[in-house]
Parts: sequence; structure tokens; C-alpha cells
Amino acid sequence: MHPRRREDRRRHPRRAEPSSDTAAHAYTYRHMPQVGGVVHTHSPYATAWAARAEPIPCVLTMIADEFGGDIPVGPFALIGDDSIGRGIVETLKDSRSPAVLMAGHGPFTIGKDARAAVKAAVLCEETARTVHLARQYGDPPRLHQEHIDALYARYQNVYGQKDPTA
Ligand SMILES: [Zn+2]
Repeated sequence: MHPRRREDRRRHPRRAEPSSDTAAHAYTYRHMPQVGGVVHTHSPYATAWAARAEPIPCVLTMIADEFGGDIPVGPFALIGDDSIGRGIVETLKDSRSPAVLMAGHGPFTIGKDARAAVKAAVLCEETARTVHLARQYGDPPRLHQEHIDALYARYQNVYGQKDPTA
């Protein structure tokens, strides 16, 4: 997790080097100024979907609420330069989702602050796990788009959260 903004690049006093993911987070902050938190995990269920490069379909109201549709997949990118950051920004800039599954890597989430990005990461993993379970005995149908739109609008209003990509 890299909640600190780009203007604060001081090293952690007990660590020699920043995370190898720092460039990806910094790129995202530079190109999505409304974003104040970026979280990256290798949480197992979301990472399993990323391994298959398969979007998580919007088959539950909780997915429509938080993600506004399917959780999208971003391109495979090597670690160490701007590639991951470019993939995150290109995938999320026109999406309502605050989460992207980077292909062959894992989930990255954004939020207006670190707390919102952490929440999206937790819900992304919960979603990945639940849809995985649903898939064991069938093929859960995607919600109708009009219902997804209505759920998303209601949830974002009731909870006072702004679309991070708006
Ligand atoms: Zn990683």
C-alpha cells in the first residue's frame, strides 16, 4: 500500500528501499489526480481471476454497488517502470470500477484516500471469492444493466461516495 502522495517520497526510516511497485502507484497518482490512495495485493481469489485474465462478472448487487459493473482486467505488464501504472490508468479511467485485475499479476485498487482504496481491495477479494464459489455449481447470470446502473447510483449517493473516475 502506498497511501502517501508523490510529494512525500521520504524513505521509511526502517526500510532501505521503497517497494518495487512504487512507480506504478506514482504513475496512477500523476494521471488520476482525484485518486488519493492506491492499494495492491496478491489476495488469492482476486489473483486467481487475474491469472486467468478473466473479468469478474457483475452477478451480485454488492458488485454493482461498489464496482458499478464487471471488475475489469488490465494488460500484462512487467514490474519496474511505468507499464503497470499505464495499464491501471488506461483500464480504470473510463470505468466505474475502483479495481482492476492486472493480467498475470493481481488486483490494484484506487480510492479518494487510502481507506477507500483498502475497502475496494477487501471487497474485490470478497467478490472474487463469492463468484468463484457460485461458479462451482453453475453459471451465475449477470445482472441486467439497468439494475446495475440503479444499484450503483443509489449506493454511491447513500454512502456519500463519489465515483473515483468521474
Ligand atoms: Zn504485485
